[in-house]
Amino acid sequence: MTTRVVVLGAGFGGLELTTLVSEACGDDVSVVLIDQSSHFVFGFSKLDVMFGKASADHVRHPYSAIVKDGVQFVSATITAIDPTSRHVETTAGSFDADILVVALGAEFDISATPGLSDIGHEFYTVDGAFALQEVLANFNGGRVVIGVTSTPFKCPPAPSETALLMDEFLKERGLREFSEITLVMPFGLPIPPSPEASQAILEAFAERGINWLPERVVKALNVQTQMVELSNDQELPFDLFLGVPVHRVPSVVAESGMTVDGWIPVDPLTLETAYPDVYAVGDVTSVGTPKAGVFSEGQGVVVAERIIASVQGRAVTSEYGGRGICYLEFGSHEVAKVDVVFRTGERPVGDLVGPTPELMNDKVQFGSERIQRWFGRQWRPTV
Ligand SMILES: Cc1cc2nc3c(=O)[nH]c(=O)nc-3n(C[C@H](O)[C@H](O)[C@H](O)COP(=O)(O)OP(=O)(O)OC[C@H]3O[C@@H](n4cnc5c(N)ncnc54)[C@H](O)[C@@H]3O)c2cc1C
Repeated sequence: MTTRVVVLGAGFGGLELTTLVSEACGDDVSVVLIDQSSHFVFGFSKLDVMFGKASADHVRHPYSAIVKDGVQFVSATITAIDPTSRHVETTAGSFDADILVVALGAEFDISATPGLSDIGHEFYTVDGAFALQEVLANFNGGRVVIGVTSTPFKCPPAPSETALLMDEFLKERGLREFSEITLVMPFGLPIPPSPEASQAILEAFAERGINWLPERVVKALNVQTQMVELSNDQELPFDLFLGVPVHRVPSVVAESGMTVDGWIPVDPLTLETAYPDVYAVGDVTSVGTPKAGVFSEGQGVVVAERIIASVQGRAVTSEYGGRGICYLEFGSHEVAKVDVVFRTGERPVGDLVGPTPELMNDKVQFGSERIQRWFGRQWRPTV
């Protein structure tokens, strides 16, 4: 009988896993890939749109373009997951799986930060980042505060990149000398696993006059006083606030009973959950890597290899090594690359290359290759 694989979520993890299983097994496996969004958007494309470097249309990749042997894409909202029976309810009907993969990512609780939606902006949702294109285009300079509201949060370098890109953006418009940029971060360093990358970022902040406020988070935006309130009781005046909202699992995951302390626990080597033949990958888990696409993808690869081996009747041996390569935008068309490894029980290690203008090409290739593999079409991220 054909193995039924149901993949919940077509982000980095779900797309890579589905592609590999289709390539190896074709029609020998039935893969159902379910997502409620009509298109995929890279996290880094949110910054490109926000800073006016790309149009929203350019960075949306419609799921309707997915044509792969053995794969059916279902456009629907998942409304219930029973991990024991591997039964899934959606707005487009129900599905039963022999192997279930939960790759539903993290969603955001914007209302958990008082005042954020009233007098601030968040740049982590697709809608929030895209709406900021117009807000930034109309900004005449002033006090810009970029702030993180809680941990964990996706792509820990993204707020630092946003501060550097904001500096470039304001300079290009002749507004930098009338502006201040302040970054509020929960960690002591911009990228704690890589002291070398952190040092390069802190030097770039110092050169560009970006204020760095470590080891604190944004608790609220006070609508009466128009101040940002921080966890250390400090208050900051602002003209433009860009926030990273509180993260949580999608409600359907919380209701499934699979979470412990807010996220799905998995075996860090095999990505197996506590339920037989149910895997979870990426941001929805507490696997121990940062919440970033490259790690979701790497976990998707391991689960795909395990599914392929089991379908082909081979021993299932693939294990996750915790490695990921992240690209960091420094502004002025310079990009750095951090190669980082997270292994359970070991200190994470990360090496830095760059920043250089040449590494921009690596980042472009990173995006282009994935769109070619996942969606079968040519695309270039904007540089
Ligand atoms: C500003 C910004 C910049 C970033 N830059 C980078 C970067 O340079 N490199 C990098 O590696 N990462 C980056 N990231 C992080 C990256 O985008 C995420 O970590 C990554 O997308 C997580 O992949 P995932 O597969 O775990 O989940 P996701 O990609 O979030 O996919 C989850 C999918 O599940 C779907 N879904 C959720 N709930 C339901 C439901 N109930 N029914 C149906 N579908 C549902 C969603 O629509 C979504 O498509 C960035 C993030 C941001 C916000």
